[in-house]
Amino acid sequence: MKFYSTANKDYRVSFEEAVCQGLAPEGGLFMPESIDLLPSDFWKDFSKKGFQQISFEVASHFLKGSLPAKDLKKIIDHAVAFDTPLVEVEKNIFALELFNGPTLAFKDFGARFLSGLLGYFVKKTDSDITILVATSGDTGSAVANGFLQVPGTRVVVLYPSGKVSDIQEKQFTALGHNITALEIDGTFDDCQRLVKQAFSDEALSKRLGLTSANSINIARLLPQSFYYFNAYAQLKDKSLPLVFSVPSGNYGNLTAGLMAKRMGLRVRQFIAATNINDIVPEYLITGQFSPRPSKQTISNAMDVGNPSNFARMMDLYQNDFSKISNDIAGFHFTDQQTNNAIREVFNSVNYLLDPHGAIGYLALKEYIKGSDMITGIFLETAHPGKFKDVVENAIGKSITLPDSLIRFAKGSKQSVRLGNSFEDFKGYLSKHNS
Ligand SMILES: *Cc1c(COP(=O)(O)O)cnc(C)c1O
Repeated sequence: MKFYSTANKDYRVSFEEAVCQGLAPEGGLFMPESIDLLPSDFWKDFSKKGFQQISFEVASHFLKGSLPAKDLKKIIDHAVAFDTPLVEVEKNIFALELFNGPTLAFKDFGARFLSGLLGYFVKKTDSDITILVATSGDTGSAVANGFLQVPGTRVVVLYPSGKVSDIQEKQFTALGHNITALEIDGTFDDCQRLVKQAFSDEALSKRLGLTSANSINIARLLPQSFYYFNAYAQLKDKSLPLVFSVPSGNYGNLTAGLMAKRMGLRVRQFIAATNINDIVPEYLITGQFSPRPSKQTISNAMDVGNPSNFARMMDLYQNDFSKISNDIAGFHFTDQQTNNAIREVFNSVNYLLDPHGAIGYLALKEYIKGSDMITGIFLETAHPGKFKDVVENAIGKSITLPDSLIRFAKGSKQSVRLGNSFEDFKGYLSKHNS
């Protein structure tokens, strides 16, 4: 299987090259040459296969022999080592809980698949790589933990100073070894811009073997399609039309869902759910895509002003607005509405949402409008304990944290503070190249 760049369809590379380059020249994103329907065999005894087997079959189908089957199987089994339970929150409304990985957010799947692949490719080539990752919170921790002590790799995490929660910060600043955290005086968009600039600096990129671990990397995206299938496998009643509501920032998760649909998963509708950074919901109404600086909210992993996977969504629908707005509905909610949802769902059915999942829930409810002829699944993208302060404030009660979070909280933060200019960043990278 070859992958082309959204910026230049004639630029075609192998899967290995797409993964190692991360971003194509001129800011293009890699897309597979084709996404075909899964063979009918795949659906036989589908619900009995188990998550790892489903993931392996989807990946083999998608990658069409890009990797020897037994190597791929190993990487998948490592990446997909925890389940994604489907929990019925209200009648026909389900939470797909994606937070059972080491850093308690869905990004563990993509990060672990990517680290498995890069570790595998690096071993073959014998030259070290530097992974750059910009984070608004959860990406940094997932990637840093995914790559911790993977030989031949070094990770540099860029994050906006003061804009991630303490516990998120500890999850990537206290690891040591091959992980460095750069605390940038600026916003997440500044961090993302710095990473993009570093990639477009060809000399720098070559010298350091720069690789991206943001959701722009196709290897991050692919495993995120696995759990849409796993959700469907767990549904006991598959007769009603299925709607997925996806709390979104850079739209990697949603794009992975769209790819699952292309492979044959029967989804009636996707919902792009977000906070007041409503660039995509706005596009879905007006047809105008207007990136702008992000605003800070309590669902901070979605504080994105220029969603990087928008180009992939456009590419999947060949810029056809009527098609895309037919498949995807968009809704956005304020912090106040998010807090209310966390409180009301907790009080009425004793289910604790995190602020991102709460937005997915709200959007689903708004879309369904009380109909009982739809099965709705919202992605619960992080464990509520990761947003302890917000959640406790919303429900007016303290919560107990899972052990793994308590362990992270005990670490000590180590970061390098930098301004938001590319000169500073480049200077740092060049000086600390080991
Ligand atoms: C990253 C993240 C999101 C947004 O996911 P995208 O793929 O960037 O749209 C939503 N919720 C949580 C908890 C996240 O960490």
